[in-house]
Amino acid sequence: MRARDEVVVALDVGGTGMKCALVRPDGATVHTERHATAAQRGPDAVVGTILDVAEGLADKARADGLTPVACGIAVPGVVDEARGVAVWSANVGFRDVPLRDLAATRLRLPAALGHDVRVGGLAEARVGAGRDAGHVLFVAIGTGIAAAHVVDGSAAVGAHGAAGEIGHILVRPDGPRCGCGRVGCLEAVASASAIGRRYTELAGAPATAAEVVDRAASGDPLAGTVWREAVEALADGLATGQALYDVATVVIGGGLAQAGPRLFDPLRDALRERLTFHREPRLVAAALGDEAGCLGAALLALDTLAKESR
Ligand SMILES: [Zn+2]
Repeated sequence: MRARDEVVVALDVGGTGMKCALVRPDGATVHTERHATAAQRGPDAVVGTILDVAEGLADKARADGLTPVACGIAVPGVVDEARGVAVWSANVGFRDVPLRDLAATRLRLPAALGHDVRVGGLAEARVGAGRDAGHVLFVAIGTGIAAAHVVDGSAAVGAHGAAGEIGHILVRPDGPRCGCGRVGCLEAVASASAIGRRYTELAGAPATAAEVVDRAASGDPLAGTVWREAVEALADGLATGQALYDVATVVIGGGLAQAGPRLFDPLRDALRERLTFHREPRLVAAALGDEAGCLGAALLALDTLAKESR
């Protein structure tokens, strides 16, 4: 049992901003801060900012009479959680940065490094929309599509730190080219950016995914077609996910989940059509919003502490 005044320093580093918090062991957030990542300064400057912000949060905790006991950091890209290394990131520019040890040295606290979507899934599975389900697939749909498979509160990392990349399931062999270089990946068809791009291409006027959803609902046939194609591709990806993972609950997060029933109703039907003997998972919207990554980073740090004290 941890003392009441203990907190974890938690940071969720994204391409544009860092969400930061002091989190109690029971998951309650006692303080939050946001900082700009300013990734254009290069990875060394970003690492400097991460360490400064983490140290500042630990100092703030002490000034408030709290005891920082660990630090958890979530980053995008490929993350080797066992070695605590940010292996590769397109939008922040990390190349083999030993971020866990850098943070542990600077703060003189145990530290943990996690993948942003994986720790977000961890938080949704334990304290968010997937709680009470032992097997959860968290799918974040925004500029890309990534997922985390969480079993009994622990997210699979993979042998190379790249588990859960369901955005790169091949769904349309004759479809558009994906950012990864291959043709026909799920995220090239069904991410929020892909939906906006497809409509813009066909209509000849720019639109975001949210606008496509609105126009489809108000009867614009072109928007309806683009939206239906995206939902069907998503259902193909989720059916593959269910064949692999057999989860009880699929939690959908990221910007596209804001579409609400306009996404969930047709997606549920399309997924049901594709399942044969597999059991249909419960399909729900994420509950923690953009705080999931920060909360998950804190949970990961607490797990590290629990392992060390065993
Ligand atoms: Zn791809």
